[in-house]
Amino acid sequence: MDFRIGNGYDIHRLVGDRPLILGGVHIPHELGLLGHSDADALTHAIMDAMLGALSLGDIGHYFPPTDPQWKGADSLELLQQVNALIHQKNWRIGNLDTVIVAERPKIKPHIQAMRDRLAATLGLAPDQIGIKATTNEKLDAVGREEGIAAYAVVLLIQS
Ligand code: MG
Repeated sequence: MDFRIGNGYDIHRLVGDRPLILGGVHIPHELGLLGHSDADALTHAIMDAMLGALSLGDIGHYFPPTDPQWKGADSLELLQQVNALIHQKNWRIGNLDTVIVAERPKIKPHIQAMRDRLAATLGLAPDQIGIKATTNEKLDAVGREEGIAAYAVVLLIQS
């Protein structure tokens, strides 16, 4: 088999006194995402997609929220570790495509910076990384600005 596909999903709660970090980029906002690590929901969804493509479980298995070692962790560092793991197993990313669902703030102005950061972390070209943003049309928890969610799909190619 030459190709594998994986998908990932994550959501974090929006609270005061936390930075808002998505795709490794700090986005100015009065609320930020709550979590044990930096709560970068986009990067977490990408990691789960990469692990899922190889049936390696999920990020909770590799970086358990109960482990103080990952408190405040930079999710891009965790992403680098997951990327190293798939490379060890002789797979590499063909492309990945993602969606961020956030009512506010406007995500679009930050998308290029996220693509650049993720590309640098994964050793990819920015055009291998798709990031789209949408609102939830004010519906449900994301629509009430109680959280931000992210979806990711990744295609892995055997090296
Ligand atoms: Mg998460």
